[in-house]
Amino acid sequence: MEISDLVAGKVVDVPDFPKPGILFKDLMPLFADGPAFGAVIEAIIAEHGADGFDVVAGIEARGFVIAAAVAYATGKGVVPVRKAGKLPRATVSASYALEYGEAVLEVHEDAFAAGERVLVVDDVLATGGTAAATLGLVERAGGQVSGFSVILELGFLGGRSRIAPRPVHALLTVS
Ligand code: AMP
Repeated sequence: MEISDLVAGKVVDVPDFPKPGILFKDLMPLFADGPAFGAVIEAIIAEHGADGFDVVAGIEARGFVIAAAVAYATGKGVVPVRKAGKLPRATVSASYALEYGEAVLEVHEDAFAAGERVLVVDDVLATGGTAAATLGLVERAGGQVSGFSVILELGFLGGRSRIAPRPVHALLTVS
């Protein structure tokens, strides 16, 4: 089965969550299915190459699940990109607009060695605000973004253009 079909079959649309008018794409059934989750992780690794990155950054919170699996499978480490106030040491931070709100993301200022190649992962690319903030944070913290993968891209929200010219790799794009 194509990976895009596998993802499509496991996404559950939840209308009006967390706010009226938002169609939430719930990937929990995908995470809960061992073979499907494994196929998704392998597809992300295949896209970037196991030697194409030095560390994996995951965006809180569902990105952590993906980042940890990709990192473990390739023998790399994980760096969490967290919501405001969660990290205990000095951070760099960025505020940004969400599809459904406003938020601040932070990463430890010493999270990356200079020039370290960072693969950034998250579950869903919506408006691209989260991704744009995260990619900027990685660079400000000294990392070099070597790739960005999501499981699902909501193409109609134009998130891809927010992070251009950096590419986005999506296992499934819905329009
Ligand atoms: P955005 O900054 O608009 O691209 O939003 C991306 C972040 O918010 C990701 O971390 C997603 O987990 C979450 N998100 C935004 N919109 C949705 C949606 N419709 N369904 C599921 N998650 C979403």
